[in-house]
Amino acid sequence: MGDGGAAVTASEPPNSPNSPKPPNSPKPPKCPLCGKPVDAKFKPFCSKRCANIDLHRWLSNSYAIAGAPHDEDEDPAAERSDQD
Ligand SMILES: [Zn+2]
Repeated sequence: MGDGGAAVTASEPPNSPNSPKPPNSPKPPKCPLCGKPVDAKFKPFCSKRCANIDLHRWLSNSYAIAGAPHDEDEDPAAERSDQD
């Protein structure tokens, strides 16, 4: 007695559904405009310059949507990214 066979416990799967991202790659956020590392003071941008650029874009877009006489067949959802 007492000499029972040890039950083999099924090991858990290596990939847990609770962690979609690997914890070993803490990539810092990047500026959506120029791709530089984000400065905490200008989140989510890297500098005041980029923050202003985005603000101007946003304002311009708002004014355009408000009713600007644009003859161009431009898609308001498309953003111009060819500017530096
Ligand atoms: Zn930037």
